[in-house]
Amino acid sequence: MDKIILKPRREESLLRYHPWVFSGAIAQIVGHPAEGDLVSVCSADGKLLACGHYQIGSIAVRILSFDEDPTLPDFWERMLLRAYQLREAYGLAQNERTNCYRLVHGEGDGLPGLIVDYYNGVCVLQAHSVGMFRAKNAICEALKTVYGERLKAVYDKSSGTAPFKAGLDLVDGYLYKAPDFDEPSSCHTERSERISRDELIVLENGNKFLVNWQEGQKTGFFLDQRENRAAVGRLAAGRKVLNLFCYTGGFSIYALAGGAVHVDSVDSSQRAMDMVDRNVALNGFTPEQHTSYCADAIDFVKNVPDGAYDLIIVDPPAFAKHRGALKNALRAYQRLNAAAIAKVAPGGFVFTFSCSQVVDKEAFALAVFSAAAETGRSVRILDRLNQPADHSVNIYHPEGEYLKGLLLYVE
Ligand code: SAH
Repeated sequence: MDKIILKPRREESLLRYHPWVFSGAIAQIVGHPAEGDLVSVCSADGKLLACGHYQIGSIAVRILSFDEDPTLPDFWERMLLRAYQLREAYGLAQNERTNCYRLVHGEGDGLPGLIVDYYNGVCVLQAHSVGMFRAKNAICEALKTVYGERLKAVYDKSSGTAPFKAGLDLVDGYLYKAPDFDEPSSCHTERSERISRDELIVLENGNKFLVNWQEGQKTGFFLDQRENRAAVGRLAAGRKVLNLFCYTGGFSIYALAGGAVHVDSVDSSQRAMDMVDRNVALNGFTPEQHTSYCADAIDFVKNVPDGAYDLIIVDPPAFAKHRGALKNALRAYQRLNAAAIAKVAPGGFVFTFSCSQVVDKEAFALAVFSAAAETGRSVRILDRLNQPADHSVNIYHPEGEYLKGLLLYVE
């Protein structure tokens, strides 16, 4: 294993279990590690601190282990089992009403650069580092051990996330398929139905959703909104609901199931809107209860008549992907939230979110405060919303906290 030697006093973050080594902290690289190789990291006085995946860039090493050897043959199996046990302990892994969840959330599960989402037997893997991309077959083998017969397939969807230089065309595809995965007889999996090769129905809190990992955004579904969707469901009875940035209609289905009078769903992606229509039908709701709009959500909400909705959901994509975009992103959050707050009926609710990692809770709350002030309406914060337990945050890596939201009551 090649070795990274840190500059004097640059070991402190590693001693506090922060899982990244920045390139600026490195004094010397002993050997010639290739991107994705395992390297050991030592302090200036030669103490071994940790091992991780090496990569050229500002984060030079993503730590996999502070105390054990990640080259041990059962490393992946133990780490994935640990991740599974957390989901099991939290009541997600063996749940009658929910059969989809995030199994591996990068640093939150001690595996920086790796995402694995579980969709009722199908694991969708996304490598965000070269090291994880190179380890994908070993990870797939470990998934087989963890899930046993329950595992129907492992799909690698890293082409858009693995940070290889241009010129290398990555192709997404199956790393594993159970022997009967392609056969029509496997169309009925445990408590759900296979629709096509790359699509199945999952259950989330008893609601049914189509997930297409090949064509969908990210791994196919936004699993991080499960609990916030349930919160919308609890407040939807008797209300007219507007779901902005709806993707495949997660919040819309919960609102309908919760007794909403009518739900309008808006997304700029036609493919997403087609899925919304199918999800509405799949859950037994009628076209009279729901309307789909393929449109720009910001234009849409600006043109809504005042008071047309008594519950509005605002869940845009990350407006700031890096620090440089922060100022513009905060302005965009303010504009969008001002429009939603201005339009909601008196006594209405606004669920508003930001999934930009660089926009912290305080900054987001300030943007929403400025939005409220712009409208001059009376606005109260009823709840502060987060990412769920399967998107866990490593306490030593607070950067892992990315999803934040507010439930507002507007008079
Ligand atoms: N609320 C969703 C997830 C939203 S992800 C859920 O619960 O599943 C963000 C969505 O915003 C994506 O579906 C993307 O297609 C959509 N989007 C991005 N820019 C948009 C815009 N300007 N207007 C409307 N939708 C937009």
